[in-house]
Amino acid sequence: MRGIKESPWLIHYDASSCNGCDIETLACLTPLYDVERLGVLNTGNPKHADIFVVTGAVNAQSAAVIRNIYHELPEPKVVVAVGACACTGGIFRECYNISGGVDSVIPVDVYVPGCAARPEAIIDGVVKALVVLEAKQREMMAMANSLDQTLYLPADKSDAPEILALQKIAYQSEAELYGDDSLPAMHQTLHELQQDFERIPDRVAVLASGQPAAGEGQPPEERIVFLKAVVNGKIIGSVRGYAIGDTAHVRRMIVHPYFRGRGIGRRLLKEIENAFPEATHFEAKTGHQSKRNLFQLVHGGYRVFRTEPFTEHINWVYLRKDKTPAPAATKGAK
Ligand code: SF4
Repeated sequence: MRGIKESPWLIHYDASSCNGCDIETLACLTPLYDVERLGVLNTGNPKHADIFVVTGAVNAQSAAVIRNIYHELPEPKVVVAVGACACTGGIFRECYNISGGVDSVIPVDVYVPGCAARPEAIIDGVVKALVVLEAKQREMMAMANSLDQTLYLPADKSDAPEILALQKIAYQSEAELYGDDSLPAMHQTLHELQQDFERIPDRVAVLASGQPAAGEGQPPEERIVFLKAVVNGKIIGSVRGYAIGDTAHVRRMIVHPYFRGRGIGRRLLKEIENAFPEATHFEAKTGHQSKRNLFQLVHGGYRVFRTEPFTEHINWVYLRKDKTPAPAATKGAK
């Protein structure tokens, strides 16, 4: 972190600025302000950047680009909205083609007001961003060091905003893989996700009493169980599933990219299977190029049984697994 703090790299994107804020941003690099002498570098590659500086309001065209650049920055990252337009939409706020400020698309950490924002204010915003970046870095490190204390818990509706944010981060790498961001998970709205939560039945009650529980009257495919992986109070993974007949369907297993490869997905898969003790089969679905998911599912005993085209770039791969019967108790065993 010391290296980043002393030499932060940033990437600048003009969302639809009138150029006023862009000129002031670039003025920071000119000899008068010369932020490079302080170690600040303006890079063209989001994968090299720590800070995302955005000018201008968001329109339909720039929204997708902002989202893509944001997700390509490695974690932890900080977003600085420069100028009134980037902060709120500014004077273009009510325009037919403007969806608002940068925070209408991605989370913003530092707002630099002004029309145009002055170079001194922009530099001040970057300094503030470094403080936020340091705090995020500390938090990520603490979480990475506490992964052995990860809790796997049922999620409820109040978790929907956090799960949705994680879902968009997790699926961004999938969208990049296929060069296609039409994956439904990328476009799910908070309202839709909250509705899914409302359809969760009380499975424990059903199993215990044999009586129908909340949601039992609804079509079976709408009854969804959500689980979350939590470290230090933050959700870093999630999965959902529902049962139709004797088959439990596993869907949208997501792990924060920073914590992948540490067994969290494997454990989530096991937990969601355990959430359906009456199921005799499990089914999962993933994209044909999602090697990480395919490996994990095959490693977990799933086998491909069907593929189906979704878009010209993406084929769904369906995998199935039969539940392993519990080993019979040995006669005389205690
Ligand atoms: S805040 Fe003012 S100067 Fe900056 S992009 Fe908007 S209109 Fe232009």
